[in-house]
Amino acid sequence: MRLRFAPSPTGALHIGGVRTALYNYLLARQQGGTFILRIEDTDQTRYVPGAEEYIIEALRWCGLLPDEGPGFGGDYGPYRQSERQAIYERYARELVERGQAYYAFDTAEELDIQRQTAESNGQSFKYDFQTRGQLRNSLSLPATEVKALLDRGEPYTIRLRVPQDELIRIQDLVRGEVVFQSNELDDKILLKGDGMPTYHLANIVDDHLMEITHVIRGEEWLPSTAHHVLLYRALGWEDTMPQFAHLPLILKPNGQGKLSKRDGTRLGIPVFPLSWKGETPDDSFVGFREFGFDPRAVLNFLAFLGWNPGTEQELFSLEELIKAFNVEKIGKAGARFDFDKAKWFNQQHLMHLPDAELAQMVRPLVEAKGFSPTDAFLQAFCGMMKERVVLLTDFWDNGYYFFTDVQEYDQKIIVKKWTPTSADVFGELLTGLKELPAFTAPAIQESVETFIARKELKFGDVLPILRIGLTGTTKGPGVFEMMALFGYPEVQRRMERAFAAFNTFS
Ligand code: GLU
Repeated sequence: MRLRFAPSPTGALHIGGVRTALYNYLLARQQGGTFILRIEDTDQTRYVPGAEEYIIEALRWCGLLPDEGPGFGGDYGPYRQSERQAIYERYARELVERGQAYYAFDTAEELDIQRQTAESNGQSFKYDFQTRGQLRNSLSLPATEVKALLDRGEPYTIRLRVPQDELIRIQDLVRGEVVFQSNELDDKILLKGDGMPTYHLANIVDDHLMEITHVIRGEEWLPSTAHHVLLYRALGWEDTMPQFAHLPLILKPNGQGKLSKRDGTRLGIPVFPLSWKGETPDDSFVGFREFGFDPRAVLNFLAFLGWNPGTEQELFSLEELIKAFNVEKIGKAGARFDFDKAKWFNQQHLMHLPDAELAQMVRPLVEAKGFSPTDAFLQAFCGMMKERVVLLTDFWDNGYYFFTDVQEYDQKIIVKKWTPTSADVFGELLTGLKELPAFTAPAIQESVETFIARKELKFGDVLPILRIGLTGTTKGPGVFEMMALFGYPEVQRRMERAFAAFNTFS
């Protein structure tokens, strides 16, 4: 099996593109096949610098690296379509010679007039079997005139001659049989005036030459598939035509319509794998990576956008996805992009990661803030926090106080609990802790509990103060575990600093 992911570098790769890459990757890996990256960059007008690098970085981040592709090697290259122009041109000419395609000399202005005339009659213009006879092409013009035009170097395109009255049947692996009637299809341009192929020609020539066996792509390409089948026929390649699977649309979080890149900005959620800085602010987006997602969680989430294993299991590693994936279980109905679900997957994945691995992921975030904790400290921190975070960024946002002074104390609670004698009481409690032979969580807990009992205090009057003094908040990991990690001198320093602040609250 040979599968390809064939994005066009026209901007940042949408998260739907990552899903397409993932499904191709999963099937390739499962079947011991080959996963190919092909850059479809023949449309010079839509080419965006940096987009190819973005695509590759996104695949790298997700761990979906191709076996063949630009910069990845392979025997079927080049894998960038702009480097294959001569190949497409050869096939376009071959199609003309075989009568399957033709030269069209109509200028853009002439076609505009056709369009306007049709529209003024309430119709839409199509270059097809009905109109081609009245237009300027090598089917309608006398051979001598065609030759003269070509000899003069008159600009032309090459168009596919769509046959009349044919049914085109596609056995789509997701949708079953899809039937198109050839009379409804226009004579698509195959080779443009600048000698560059269109998507249709380049895509079919490459899928054939690269021996692609399965095409998994978004539903928006389903209508083009009719032309693609005709092209395979015209080129005599129908026998080895790949099998098609068209993936369901990804819908907006409210389920109403297709998810667009603007939804990301509008809703403040990522719809791209990585951040992207375009020319303008509205072409700049925050990615899943920068939002604090683990790529494995993103893949798990994306796998379920249009597919499910038919069991209760929701959490999958990439290895497990490779085993469980099954094209027959891809759905036809649009899949709702539920960002809360994405966060849930992230939370679950983070929670199940080993502390040491998390520490490696969290270290850059902490270092970016100017702190370099030891591995042991960072691992203990991650172990305490991992059930309390949703995003990777939450490690810092909810746990910054492990590394630096508390920024803000929960004043409301302190005002309720802190009395003029509290400083003395807590001073005594600290003295008890200082004398502990081993400053471990169980020893601290026992000491605090004994103290509370002896002083006839209430837990609810002591523990929140202790916790807020150390961390500023009432939420967070177990207070005794944190104290043990900080060590007595740091606990004392923090509490004294807190008492000074608490005395000023009113
Ligand atoms: N270049 C097309 C895209 O940008 C590829 C579609 C296909 O897979 O055939 O999605």
